[in-house]
Amino acid sequence: MIPIFDTHAHLDLEPFSEDFDAVIHRLESGTLPVVSDELPSQPIQMTGVLLPGIDAQSSYRCVELAQRLPIFHAAAAIHPNSVVNATDHDWKIITELAFRDDVVAIGETGLDRYWDDTPIEQQINALLKHINLAVRTAKPIQIHCRDAWDDLLPILRHAVKEQGLTGIIHAFSGEPEQAAECIELGFYLSFAGSVTYRNAKFASLWESAKIVPINRLLVETDSPYMPPHPLRGKLKRNEPILAVMVAQRLAELRGVTLAQIAEATTQNAFQILCANDISQ
Ligand SMILES: [Zn+2]
Repeated sequence: MIPIFDTHAHLDLEPFSEDFDAVIHRLESGTLPVVSDELPSQPIQMTGVLLPGIDAQSSYRCVELAQRLPIFHAAAAIHPNSVVNATDHDWKIITELAFRDDVVAIGETGLDRYWDDTPIEQQINALLKHINLAVRTAKPIQIHCRDAWDDLLPILRHAVKEQGLTGIIHAFSGEPEQAAECIELGFYLSFAGSVTYRNAKFASLWESAKIVPINRLLVETDSPYMPPHPLRGKLKRNEPILAVMVAQRLAELRGVTLAQIAEATTQNAFQILCANDISQ
C-alpha cells in the first residue's frame, strides 16, 4: 500500500458539492478518478486529508466535514485574499474554532501579492493575529505565500524565535534559497501540483523540492485547484487522492521510490498535524 496524506484540500468548496459522496468513496477505497498508464499502479491508502478554512464560514464547514471521516482533519483561518471582507464577528468565530480540540492547525493564512485582493498591511495584520492564535493554542500554522517572501520571512523568523511558532508552508512556490530559509526556521514544506508541471519556469521549484530534508517534506493537492501533470487541463478539478502524483514526482526528482516518499510524507504529516491528537 502507498500511504498518502494530502495536507491541503478545500473539500468544503462548491466544486465538490455535487458529487462529494463519490469523492469520499474514492478516498476510502483508494480509487483514482481516471485510468491512465501514467498514474501509479500500486494500491493507495489515504492516511489523512487536512481541510483548511478560507473564511469563518468555510472554517466552520471544514470542522463539520472532519466529523464525517476519521482521516479528515480541520484547520481554521481567514485566507489573505478574504481578509478584506472579514468582520469582527468572523474573527470571533475563527478564535473559537482555533481552540477546539478537533481543529488541528491554524490555516490557511499568509500573504498574497499576486492577487492583491486585500491591502498588504491588512494581510500582515491578519497573519499576525493567526500567528498569535497558533502560539496560544500550541497548534501549527499553515502558510500561503504568493510573491510575498520578502514580507513573509522576517515575520516568520521573529515568530519562530520569540514565540516558538511551528508549521507548514503550503503549496511551496519559492526558490531554493527561500526553501532553505523555511527549513532553517523549522517549517515543513508541502509541495502541490505545480512541482509536477513540466514547463521550464518551474525549474527552480524542482530544485527546491530536491533540497528539502526528507523529514520536512509533505504532499498536497490544493484541491479543487492545480490538477497534477498529466491530468492538468483534462480534469475539471483536482481531488485528494491525486496527491499520489505529487509524491511520484518528488520521488522522480529525488531519485528514490514512490513508497519512500509516501511513507515519509505520511509520517511527517502525522508528526506536525496529529502529534496532539489522542484519537490517532
Ligand atoms: Zn488553499
